[in-house]
Amino acid sequence: MIKILIDVHCHANLYLDIDKVINEAKNVGVEKIIAVAMSSISQRRVLEIADQYKEIYAALGVHPEEVKMNRNIENQLESIIDLIKTKKENICAIGEIGLDHYFVKDKELYPLQKTIFDKMLLLAQGLELPVNLHTKGAEKIIFDTLPSYKIPNVNIHWYSGPEIFLKKGIDRGYFFSITPALSYSPPVKKTVLTVDIEHLLLESDGPVKYTRKVGTPAMIRDVLNTISKLKEIPVIVLENQILDNTRKIFPKIFEN
Ligand SMILES: [Zn+2]
Repeated sequence: MIKILIDVHCHANLYLDIDKVINEAKNVGVEKIIAVAMSSISQRRVLEIADQYKEIYAALGVHPEEVKMNRNIENQLESIIDLIKTKKENICAIGEIGLDHYFVKDKELYPLQKTIFDKMLLLAQGLELPVNLHTKGAEKIIFDTLPSYKIPNVNIHWYSGPEIFLKKGIDRGYFFSITPALSYSPPVKKTVLTVDIEHLLLESDGPVKYTRKVGTPAMIRDVLNTISKLKEIPVIVLENQILDNTRKIFPKIFEN
């Protein structure tokens, strides 16, 4: 049986040459890519590329840094929510959503960030969709908030926070997606070593740069190999398990 890899978190709408990115991914067995939205503009673009490319699946949501990047986000919120509701059949998750108290330094923006996050969680609960979460520097509030909602499954993306919440996430059965930062980041390595293989996923977070190289879905092949070495588990076993995990959390990307 041919194994496939899936990039569960990629800002695919931001690539200049998306055909090239998809081809390079397919050359190393990355067959599916979840494109996560961030802003009001990217919701439309993500839907467009998911329509255009069979390898791409859409996740819609408002990124926590939007409060800093986009002065109009508060006014745009209701129309984004309406769009997500209208397109619920076309999306596999709500994301990228969450809180950020690390890159967003202005504390006055935190209440709005939290309001948006709560609305996104409510949406995920109502639409019965999994969430793709950004937790940077706000792990405690996020972990305190999540039990108030009934969300089918939680994907914590690029976790690099305190160990106490990592352990809590593991106890609650959350899934952790690992980026190419694994090659140099001690907290990411810690995440890989702590989380059991039944809860690991792969992601590029592209086009984020890793040691000056633009991140792409093709890079998750190396991430898999590095996890295999770190955890001393054969690549083939890991590949199978991660595919099963991805099927469990994002069932809609396996429907067609
Ligand atoms: Zn991201």
